[in-house]
Amino acid sequence: MTAPDNHATAMASIIPLIDVRNAAPLDAVLRAAGRAAGAAGGPVADTRGRRIHDLRISVTDRCNFRCVYCMPKEVFGRDYAYLAHSDLLTFEEITRLAQVFVGQGVAKIRLTGGEPLLRRNIERLVEMLAKIGDLDLTLTTNGALLAKKARSLRDAGLKRVTVSLDSLDDATFRAMNDVDFPVARVLEGIDAAAAAGLAPLKINMVVKRGANEASIVPIARRFKGSGHIVRFIEYMDVGATNGWRMDDVVPAAEIVRLISAELPLENADPNYTGEVAERWRYQDGSGEIGVIASVTQAFCRDCTRARLSTDGKLYTCLFASTGYDLRGLLRGGRGDAEIGDAIAAVWRQRSDRYSEIRTANTARPAKVEMSYIGG
Ligand code: SAM
Ligand code: SF4
Ligand code: SF4
Repeated sequence: MTAPDNHATAMASIIPLIDVRNAAPLDAVLRAAGRAAGAAGGPVADTRGRRIHDLRISVTDRCNFRCVYCMPKEVFGRDYAYLAHSDLLTFEEITRLAQVFVGQGVAKIRLTGGEPLLRRNIERLVEMLAKIGDLDLTLTTNGALLAKKARSLRDAGLKRVTVSLDSLDDATFRAMNDVDFPVARVLEGIDAAAAAGLAPLKINMVVKRGANEASIVPIARRFKGSGHIVRFIEYMDVGATNGWRMDDVVPAAEIVRLISAELPLENADPNYTGEVAERWRYQDGSGEIGVIASVTQAFCRDCTRARLSTDGKLYTCLFASTGYDLRGLLRGGRGDAEIGDAIAAVWRQRSDRYSEIRTANTARPAKVEMSYIGG
């Protein structure tokens, strides 16, 4: 008998045992809720009184990076089974669903993925969504293609953009994206987005202990006074493949302490109820930062976010393992009113609060990957 292969053993512990992308019990919800689900009009509240407000749409499950905390190379390798093109929602389907969601109370839409700028002709989708009207339309990107696309995205009607940037140190950045992508190209993308008027520009830094803590203060310093808002994000246990451990999390309070010791900060009020980032402003008036403490200070109480996966399933929590198949309704010829009722029915029965009940030892159900559900 041969000794166990360490790599194989490690992989077995992090690869999901089942493909949770297939779950879709929408009919049961609809039967239970009945046709009256959306009849009352206006945004519906879930079982905790939270009203639907934001929709994140994953436009592709593919990415040109392999960030170690999101799409580790060992799992998302050459053999990984991405969705087939025919499984993806078309732009027409996304736009139609977006309109129905707006009818249910959604006022903010974020395009995400995977890497949304990899979806061919993404500008055309932006243009279609921008026509919906009074909507806060934004997009989250790793910035690799932003220098090339910022102007056309803005021309298509995109209002703002969030760029992920985990380090200014080139070696650290290359190690975190794990495809040897240079940080200078992302910085060019940020400048191009600002020049195109995609403002206020937000910059997301995921902080992973032992990987990029040393980049916290340099990133804060670099963008202080630029008008861009850096948001420092606690490393989360999304998906089932990143091998997350509580020890890898740098608590938001520690991040604020580190920055404030060099660049003094004071607490600022939230812009609105349910804002994900806790705001801190520089005492010298030169701008603000945010911290997203999804692990150490869960904000499920105010969570008003729905997610639409690349293949058209509705998820009511980032940590869900079950989605509701809206694409099936679309392709099955159901009308907008029926689809609206279905969304309302799903939302009404929602009780998610994963981050509030997570512990270091939380049993890990087969959660879907962030690249598929939309970060
Ligand atoms: N590819 C785009 C990007 O990286 O900006 C959009 C999709 S990505 C899944 C959206 C956001 O989720 C990024 O800012 C990324 O840093 C963040 N993210 C991914 N995995 C994470 C994790 N395990 N914990 C916290 N944030 C994470
Ligand atoms: Fe790709 Fe974004 Fe995930 Fe990084 S965080 S692997 S860029 S989807
Ligand atoms: Fe919302 Fe789920 Fe995150 Fe809580 S854990 S804030 S319910 S997405």
